[in-house]
Formats: sequence, C-alpha cells, structure tokens
Amino acid sequence: MNVGIVIPAAGIGHRMGSDRPKQYLAFQGKPLICHTLDCFLRFDTMILAVEPGRESMFQQEILQAYGYPSTWQVVAGGEKRQDSVGNALAVLPKECELVLVHDAVRPFVDDELLDRIIAKAMETGAAIPAIAVTDTIKRVKNNLIENTQDRAVLWRAQTPQAFRVELLQKALAKAKKDGYYGTDEANLVERLGVPVTIVAGSEQNIKITTPADLRLAEYLWRQEC
Ligand code: C5P
Repeated sequence: MNVGIVIPAAGIGHRMGSDRPKQYLAFQGKPLICHTLDCFLRFDTMILAVEPGRESMFQQEILQAYGYPSTWQVVAGGEKRQDSVGNALAVLPKECELVLVHDAVRPFVDDELLDRIIAKAMETGAAIPAIAVTDTIKRVKNNLIENTQDRAVLWRAQTPQAFRVELLQKALAKAKKDGYYGTDEANLVERLGVPVTIVAGSEQNIKITTPADLRLAEYLWRQEC
C-alpha cells in the first residue's frame, strides 16, 4: 500500500518557554525537527505543514540544507493543528492510500513501531500507538479534585497515527462542518463512529514539549548512540 507522511509543524510551542518554536531548537547539532524527519527517510511522500510565511525558509534551511529527499513538500499550516493537517492532506498525491500523521517533535519513533502501525492500519483502516496509563488520573478544577478516573481504561495516545486517506479526509471534513477541534487525528475519526485500533506504543517515543522533556531526550539520545 502506498504510504504518505504528514507532519504538522506549524505550532508556536509556548510551553517550551523559548522565543523559537520548539521544532527549531538546536538538538545534538541540528534543529530538533531534523531528528524527527530522519525517522522517515524511507518514505518518498512527506508533506510538512509549517507556519505560513516560513515555507521557503523551511525548504531551503531544513530540507535542502540537510539533504532530505527532493520529493518532500512543504505547505502553509492553518490556524490549528487539524487545519495544518487538512492543508497537507490536500496536496497528498492521489496514489497514497494510507497516511501517517506524526508530531514534529517526536524524534524517537523507530522502524519497528512504524511497521506495526502501518500493518495494523492496512488491516483495520485506523491505528494509533498508545501506552496504558500507570499513574492515577484526577479530574481537577480550581486546584480541587472533582473525581478520580478509572485508570484501567485510560491510555496515552502517541503518534504516528495511521489512517486510510479517505477516512481521515472524511473525519477532518466532519470536524470542520461541526466547528470541532480535537488534540489528535484519532479523535476526529472516533467522531465518525469508526473504530480506531490501539497498538503498543513505545516509552522512547516521547513528545518534546517542556525543557524537562528536552533533558530526557538528551538522555535517550545518548542511550541510542
Ligand atoms: O503539542 P500539541 O499536541 O499541541 O502539538 C501540536 C502539533 O501540531 C505540533 O507538532 C505543532 O507544530 C502542530 N501545529 C500545527 N499547526 C498549528 C498548531 C500546531 O501544525 N496551527
């Protein structure tokens, strides 16, 4: 099956407390996003959505400067993550049947996880990696606990999230029509009433959001080298 990759990378990343979007922070000698892109070198089709106005900078200073495949494309992102994903999907070549949407700042996804996600999504139409929650999760308002969630049914969703292209297109169209915004693509597919399958995620597949995550990433990087 022909697989395309979409990376929404148009976020500003306020939680990092830096004036540079987190995907451009220097990490082990190159911008953090390059480490994420390095995980996808075996795919010819990659669409990156970046902050509007940064497209040619990204093309030259990231894709060309670091020698990524010339088939990879850059588009302008939208107002929110799913608008960025929608803009990228709009230029995905027609021959792609499966699309993987991956966070710009998850640089430790490995081939084994990619293969498992792709295989499961080919079988079911929609698959995401996730990890069972081990902490006890509280619902909190104004620093007071409202209730305690049933941990046995809670999972942490990761990316890449894989879908048949027409399914994700349908999910994005419905969300747009309803004015609904989710924090991942699976959430939009769930709203269609279509089952999304979980595959075992990886503890290494962290999302770098805070300065503490960056320190953990440095540790993981040293383990891998
Ligand atoms: O951390 P969070 O789940 O909010 O990450 C959102 C992801 O979506 C980041 O990779 C960010 O670059 C991207 N994004 C985007 N377009 C936006 C907002 C966020 O591509 N308008």
